[in-house]
Amino acid sequence: MTDLSVQDWKSKAAALKFRNQCFIDGAFCDALSGQKFETVNPATSEVLTDVARGGGEDIDRAVASARRAFASGAWSARTPEQRKQVLLRLAGLIRENIPEFALLDTLDMGKPIKDSSTIDAPGAAHFFQWHGEAIDKLYDEIAPTGGRDLALVRRVPLGVIGAVVPWNFPLDMATWKLAPALATGNSVVLKPAEQSPLSALFLAELACEAGLPDGVLNVVPGYGEDAGQALGRHADVDCLVFTGSTSVGKLFQRYAGESNMKQVWLETGGKSPNIIFPDADLDAAADMAAFGIFFNQGEVCSANSRMLVHETIKDQMTERMKSRAEAIVPGDPLDPASTLGAMVDRSHTDKVMRFIESGKQSSRLVTGGERITLNGSDAFVTPTIFDNVQSDHQIVREEVFGPVLTIQTFTTDDQAVAMANDTVYGLAASVWTSDLSRALGVSDALNAGTVSVNTVDALSAMTPFGGMKQSGFGRDLSIHSFDKYTALKTTWIKY
Ligand code: NAP
Ligand code: MG
Repeated sequence: MTDLSVQDWKSKAAALKFRNQCFIDGAFCDALSGQKFETVNPATSEVLTDVARGGGEDIDRAVASARRAFASGAWSARTPEQRKQVLLRLAGLIRENIPEFALLDTLDMGKPIKDSSTIDAPGAAHFFQWHGEAIDKLYDEIAPTGGRDLALVRRVPLGVIGAVVPWNFPLDMATWKLAPALATGNSVVLKPAEQSPLSALFLAELACEAGLPDGVLNVVPGYGEDAGQALGRHADVDCLVFTGSTSVGKLFQRYAGESNMKQVWLETGGKSPNIIFPDADLDAAADMAAFGIFFNQGEVCSANSRMLVHETIKDQMTERMKSRAEAIVPGDPLDPASTLGAMVDRSHTDKVMRFIESGKQSSRLVTGGERITLNGSDAFVTPTIFDNVQSDHQIVREEVFGPVLTIQTFTTDDQAVAMANDTVYGLAASVWTSDLSRALGVSDALNAGTVSVNTVDALSAMTPFGGMKQSGFGRDLSIHSFDKYTALKTTWIKY
């Protein structure tokens, strides 16, 4: 993929056919209201296509179709081995279509094609393959009752899963929910983010081609307040899985409480600390810290947005971070040389710029802080660093979801831990040191779902991903992701 030029990508983009309707019961269809919304390429401000704006009545149709499919057993009663074969075929189809998937996400939300073609799209194939391969290797249990009793404890699918996902990794966030939900035999209704519905619709089409029966995967694009809320409140949805902001996550808990008490699993925001001790490899720490905060325009829930450096190395680290930041220049996302693309849309860019203005009032701007215009769009923000930052500044407390790093100093290990934990979030954290006992001691004391030592944002299909505190609960990825989509059922036999 890396051998394609910007011109090659542009011609591929021009030839793309967008799937822009709801996908319900194995077929594309308009929203019952006939309404549509525009999905825009934030890197050019051009409208890509009009997409069906699904509402409550479309969610009703999709949930009914998912329920019928589940009850029929066409998928839910297939053996794990049979479900594996379908998911492996889907992984293969994604791999055959990597350029198209990469383009759909890049055009829809502005991320560099280099990343969507080498990370997002291959990642989706890998995650479907991994979950497919895992599902026929899990054994259930026989409880140690003894006597002439046989108590079988089995994992059973929940039924209809509602999934609501964000725009920052459109294909991968959908995949992190779909792969374990489908592997375990459930049916799903997915609502992608309004900014980035296109890759999920193509994925649904390929899933059917791979052999997923009609109705097992439905995709309803639309707005959060109507389609998302309708799914959250639906009385026939057994479980709602969500990735997005903490404030919307709390709404889903409310929707469940006010409707059928469906299970709700949330992956929400973050404000992840990155602690640098003086005995660390400072160049490696700076390289990875820059990747961790500037990758995907900083629109990453687990971005290490708060750097905490020991006071004795503050100047050295700040200098290193400044040079790394200044080497990254926003560019056309379709240019394979670009490593920083467009922010997802103008309103999010406005929000990021408000945070930057607030940072300029309270702190010292080390570099960046500029909004720039490229190809008719002003949704580009330069990599930004602030120092002289206090723990009560807005720029330290709130999730910016943009390429903005704050640098603070500490003197003792205990102080570093206290500062790192001084947040409502608990998604990820990093620690840089060559002292193993310090690394483990500090890791133990950090409230975070994942602590990376001498790296940032360590993540794989094999390890659980998710948060503590207001970063949510439940885990995506790994064998443990199956827990969210299954219930333990006991069958007790006397003989
Ligand atoms: P968001 O505004 O919370 O939206 C996420 C999803 O929820 C979208 O599909 C959205 O639909 C829908 N939604 C919005 N309002 C809703 C409502 N009132 N009722 C029901 N659904 C509603 O988040 P975002 O701005 O798209 O994404 C950024 C956030 O996601 C950040 O906070 C980031 O940390 C978080 N995130 C977390 C993880 C993780 O794994 N922890 C991963 C990635 C992102 P619309 O598109 O129509 O608004
Ligand atoms: Mg949104």
